[in-house]
Amino acid sequence: MGITGIYLFVIGCCVGSFINVLNFRLPLGQSIIYPSSRCTKCNCKLKWFDNIPLISWIVLGAKCRSCKKKISISYPLIELTTGLIFCANFFAYPSIYDQLPKFLIIFSGIIFSSILIVLAVLDCKYFWLPKNITLGGLTLGLIFSLIVDLFYNLSQFSYFINSIFAAFIGFIFFYLLSLLGLKIYKTPVMGGGDAKLSALLGSWLGMQGLFIAIWLSFFAASILVIFGLILKKIKRKQKIPFGAFLSLSGLIVWQFGNEVFMRLIFSTFNW
Ligand SMILES: [Zn+2]
Repeated sequence: MGITGIYLFVIGCCVGSFINVLNFRLPLGQSIIYPSSRCTKCNCKLKWFDNIPLISWIVLGAKCRSCKKKISISYPLIELTTGLIFCANFFAYPSIYDQLPKFLIIFSGIIFSSILIVLAVLDCKYFWLPKNITLGGLTLGLIFSLIVDLFYNLSQFSYFINSIFAAFIGFIFFYLLSLLGLKIYKTPVMGGGDAKLSALLGSWLGMQGLFIAIWLSFFAASILVIFGLILKKIKRKQKIPFGAFLSLSGLIVWQFGNEVFMRLIFSTFNW
């Protein structure tokens, strides 16, 4: 675990640094590859040693070397979180793929979690779930299930079928929910991005995992809204980034597996 954990953490911090670039440039419609990293305030080009995830922020004392303006703590926080989530992938237990070799679970887990972190941050900041990322992630989930079928399931295609079916149900569920919301409230209550994100979760988690992730996100979002209203931190018609709840729930289900949540869900139904 030791060495692998350190590798995963370092790779995670670097991916987190790239996620920061995505989160800054995508909403502005800029290229994510060119030009190289720049200070977002004075636009000066960052030297490689001022662009090391986590470390540079600490060494520079959270200030740009040339313009001395503050660098937001959100940058190192996203790097650290991604590093820790990559590390946690070493212990991930996605129920749908529990028969797979560990390296494959880690490899697929870091792809899945990177996509979900990008979406969670963009939804929190801009209420935006870019179609390219949700549909791209959905495609990767389907491809992964197909690879598993071809190499580990004697080409029986049960993983692929589960994946496609769950993606379809995931999409339809939120699509119908948004139609219903539109009919009742006469205004869109759910973004179209949520339906695509839910399809993405289905393609990676399968039918049961999708069901748990949706339950978990509604559960967590309602608790947050109730406390927010009581503490007067949110207003009655305030928008909430539901895509972020879906993303984090997907991560949690991938990490801890279905069984623990299935027991929890059935005990709440038995009240
Ligand atoms: Zn600067």
